[in-house]
Amino acid sequence: MMSNTKGKDAAEGSSSRSPLPAATAPVPQPLSRYESQKRRDWNTFGQYLRNQRPPVALPQCNGGHVLDFLRYLDQFGKTKVHMQGCVFFGQPEPPGPCSCPLRQAWGSLDALIGRLRAAYEENGGPPEANPFASGAIRVYLREVRDSQAKARGIPYTKKKKKRNPIINKPNHDHHDQHSSSFTMQ
Ligand SMILES: [Zn+2]
Repeated sequence: MMSNTKGKDAAEGSSSRSPLPAATAPVPQPLSRYESQKRRDWNTFGQYLRNQRPPVALPQCNGGHVLDFLRYLDQFGKTKVHMQGCVFFGQPEPPGPCSCPLRQAWGSLDALIGRLRAAYEENGGPPEANPFASGAIRVYLREVRDSQAKARGIPYTKKKKKRNPIINKPNHDHHDQHSSSFTMQ
């Protein structure tokens, strides 16, 4: 594979046709890091859809395509995720190499989905059909998070987020900062 994601912002958006005057307010500053990352992600996803056989048009894109895309990205991952049988399973910093696969880290996927979800609507996609907002993806991300937390021995709780894997409380943001600095495990 050739990933030329490095290199500075060589003007690669040469094919930019004038965007539809969507509801987004014009932002008078140069693209932030987030914005340019979002644009890159969006292009990558579009390319992925075009490379499907048969190609998938954006209006036909559903949560299943997005899930396939996330799995497809795993081959480019850099996060070692130990299998159940590995002696390093559950160790945050294993002392040696093993043959477990590299994956995309949950945090990367989570952030990616957030950017694509925004990009979809900014590019004219109807919010009610936003494939990145589908419940299947939420479920998938939760599974990835939990399994990686187990495999790597790293609880994903230090992220200031309310998500608490123990209970599934639907939307109850309060009462989370259990900053348990003393959990030794
Ligand atoms: Zn391993």
